Amino acid sequence: MNYDVVIQDGFGFYCVRILRDAIASMVEDAGGWPPGTSTGNRVLLKVNMLAAKHPARGITTHPAVVAAVSSLLRDRGCEVFIGDSPGGAVKGVERYWKNCGFNTAAELTGAKLISFEGSGSKKISIHNREYDIALPILEGYDCRINLCKFKTHMYTRLTNALKNSFGIVPGLGKAMLHMRSPRPVDLAVNIVDLYEIADFSLHISDGILCMDGRGPSTDGRRRHEGFLAVSRNGLYLDMVLSQMAGLPWNQLDSNVEAVSRGLGKPFAEITVHGSHEFVDFDIPARSYLNHIPRWLGSAARLVLRTAPVSNDLCTGCGVCQRACPVDAIEIKNGRAKMKKGICIMCLCCHELCPENAIELKLPFGRR
Ligand code: SF4
Ligand code: SF4
Repeated sequence: MNYDVVIQDGFGFYCVRILRDAIASMVEDAGGWPPGTSTGNRVLLKVNMLAAKHPARGITTHPAVVAAVSSLLRDRGCEVFIGDSPGGAVKGVERYWKNCGFNTAAELTGAKLISFEGSGSKKISIHNREYDIALPILEGYDCRINLCKFKTHMYTRLTNALKNSFGIVPGLGKAMLHMRSPRPVDLAVNIVDLYEIADFSLHISDGILCMDGRGPSTDGRRRHEGFLAVSRNGLYLDMVLSQMAGLPWNQLDSNVEAVSRGLGKPFAEITVHGSHEFVDFDIPARSYLNHIPRWLGSAARLVLRTAPVSNDLCTGCGVCQRACPVDAIEIKNGRAKMKKGICIMCLCCHELCPENAIELKLPFGRR
C-alpha cells in the first residue's frame, strides 16, 4: 500500500547505513522514488542550513540523513547536488557547509555542494506576489527533494516541510519577506507561495535530533525524538507531525493557508504508516500579532517596541549588525544593541549570532 505519510521511530543515533535502509523502505511505502530520479538525472537536495552550527545542535538537517539519501540516489545513477540559503546575509557559504557537515556528506557520496547565493536568481510571480528565487529551484534539475528539519519556531510555532521552502529565497530576501509580512499569519501566505514555487517531489523530515521551546536556532532546547518521516506531499507531513506533537494541524498558519488553496486532501483522509509519541514537547504559543488586524501589524510592532537583546556572551563581532535588514543594530562599547521601534523581529540576528548571545523577549504570546 502507498501511504501519504510514513513515519519510522526508534533511531537512537545517526548511522548512514541504518538510515539508508530505513529511508529506502520508507520511500517505497510512500509511493516510491519520484520521476526524475533515474540514471543520468540531476537531483537537488534542499537541506535546512539555517545557521553554520554543528549538526549535534539539532538546528540543521543532519549530514548523515543527507548522505543516506544522496547515496541511495547515486545508486540509482543520479547526479546529486546539495544546497540551501542560510538566514540573513551570507558571506562565506563554505563555513556553513563545513560546520553543518554537508561537505563531509558530499565527499562521502560523490555529491556536489551548490551555493544558492552564487547561482543567480530570478523574479517569479505567483498569486500576484513577486519573489526572488534561487535559480537552482527553477532550472537545471530533474527533481528537487526537500530534506527538512522538524523543530519549533518562535514566530511560526513549528518549522518542517512547508517552512523549509523559505530557503529558496537567497540572502537578505528572506528578511525582507519578514518585513513585508508583519504577522505570522501573513508570513504563512509567503511560505505557502514559496512551497508552491519549489514544487518538491519528495519530502524527508529529520526528527531524530530536533528542537522544542525557543527554536529554530540557538535559543531552542535540543531534543532527541528519534524519528524520520517521509511523504510525497509536504502539507501532509506538516499536518500529521504538528498534530502528533500536540499542536492541532489547523493551529499552524501555513497548514491552514495550504489547505485553503486545495494543496491536499482533508486531514481525516491522510493515510499514515507508523507514529511517534512526543512527550512534553514545548511549542511556542500563537503570536500576539496574529490577534490584531493586518493594517495594524507594523504599527503594533512599533508601539510594543519589541526587539531581541544581546547578553554577556556578546563579543561585539558585528555579524548580527551586518545581517540586520533594517539597520536596527549598533555595536556600542563592544556589545550589540538592538533599536526597538526599528526592529522587525525577523530573527536573522538571533539565528546567525555565533556566540548564542541574542535572547528573544516577546511581550505576549509565550507559553
Ligand atoms: S550579538 Fe552575537 S553576532 Fe551580534 S555582535 Fe554580539 S556576538 Fe556578534
Ligand atoms: S535586530 Fe530585529 S530586524 Fe535586525 S536582524 Fe535582529 S530581529 Fe531582525
